[in-house]
Amino acid sequence: MPDSPPAPFRLLMLGAPGSGKGTQGTRLAERYGARHVSTGDLLRGQVAAGSDLGRQAQPYMDRGDLVPDELILGMVLERVLGGTAPESYVLDGFPRTVAQAKAAYEHAKDADRTLDAVVCLDIPHDELLARLEDRGRSSGRSDDNAATVLHRIEEYEQKTLPLLDYYAGRGILVRVDAVGEVDAVTERIVQALDGLKG
Ligand code: ADP
Repeated sequence: MPDSPPAPFRLLMLGAPGSGKGTQGTRLAERYGARHVSTGDLLRGQVAAGSDLGRQAQPYMDRGDLVPDELILGMVLERVLGGTAPESYVLDGFPRTVAQAKAAYEHAKDADRTLDAVVCLDIPHDELLARLEDRGRSSGRSDDNAATVLHRIEEYEQKTLPLLDYYAGRGILVRVDAVGEVDAVTERIVQALDGLKG
């Protein structure tokens, strides 16, 4: 087994809905002793709790739109990236726009907590649709119906894909083929991260 990176380790998972970033993010967080932070889960928690934020975010989520940057930044900046947050984390679902990425970078820089690596999970469009159809049948998530899923993919392609250039420019991007068994994809990611370090 490859050596774990030295703590602290800060990682961002990028990938379309259905690419497996939640599954892989959870596994990587365990492996690296980092906190797994899913903004989708945080938002669903706010909706379930009936908070102001949850009430404001829910209509966007139900349509498959991104929630406005101000709401997301208010939820995560200090809590996730500030000086009092855990030093190691795996971000899943944030940043998702260039504006979020720039705000996150500025905030994290002040606390000396910027990202070490960004993993983009690459997956062909057809495979994505097949996976999401399966998940829609079993997840119970109100945003996993066909029309909303397609719109979430569009949002990803328009608003999140531009982040690849942003992170490639910072020299911390690795792209990984996300097709295959869950374990095989995890091993591919770990090897790609070892390559980035070395
Ligand atoms: P997926 O990536 O599978 O679509 P997530 O659980 O990551 O699912 O996100 C679900 C929804 O939560 C998104 O469609 C969006 O409405 C909202 N959301 C989560 N993270 C963000 C973010 N960083 N910026 C804007 N909206 C977000």
